[in-house]
Amino acid sequence: MTTTHADAVTTMRATVAALHQHLTAYNLVAWTSGNVSGRVPGHDLMVIKPSGVEYAELTGDVMVVCDLDGRVVDGDLDPSSDTTAHAYIYRNRPDVGGVVHTHSSYASAWAARGEPIPCVLTAMADEFGGEIPIGPFAIIGDDSIGRGVVETLDGHRSPAVLMRNHGVFAIGATPRAAVKAAVMCEDVARTVHLARQLGEPLPIKPSDVDSLYERYQNRYGQASRSFETE
Ligand SMILES: [Zn+2]
Repeated sequence: MTTTHADAVTTMRATVAALHQHLTAYNLVAWTSGNVSGRVPGHDLMVIKPSGVEYAELTGDVMVVCDLDGRVVDGDLDPSSDTTAHAYIYRNRPDVGGVVHTHSSYASAWAARGEPIPCVLTAMADEFGGEIPIGPFAIIGDDSIGRGVVETLDGHRSPAVLMRNHGVFAIGATPRAAVKAAVMCEDVARTVHLARQLGEPLPIKPSDVDSLYERYQNRYGQASRSFETE
């Protein structure tokens, strides 16, 4: 490893380990059932959670480094059982720098019904630019989950997909952006579920969805400043 390469890996190990704390803080996971990964910038490598390790024990040192075929390059533990899916997404989406998978409750309830979450909240238009789509039913073990994620999100602005009968896959330019998408996905899944209990939520006009999305993605927060958000 060159020094630059080693530094990039070390930094991504720490980043990905720390981001897992959001999964527990936002109640997105039970036991060890969710995972975050990050692409090592400039290298065909990803850093991912080891399989079956509790969130409180995750440090940069115990994370696993894999190539983009999911083979372990560096690490003492076995990588997440979802590594094949993460690797497929990185191979097929060069724009993606982070992937998150959870079985968060409300989002997975929509996935269990195979029903997309309709865009009925301005916060959804902001973050997802439309509905959160449903991906196919896919069994763990080969490329079918990763392929389902990539094919479903192709042509969608949504950074999250509800894999049918399973749970959430969220993507982002960085691991932090992917975690944010997973958090927001659960938040809107819950609110739209609650709205449904007393009636039919009102749709937002597509042109309004477009303008909300454009404003939020380009002008919200500190977009005019060059803050490092990682
Ligand atoms: Zn899963």
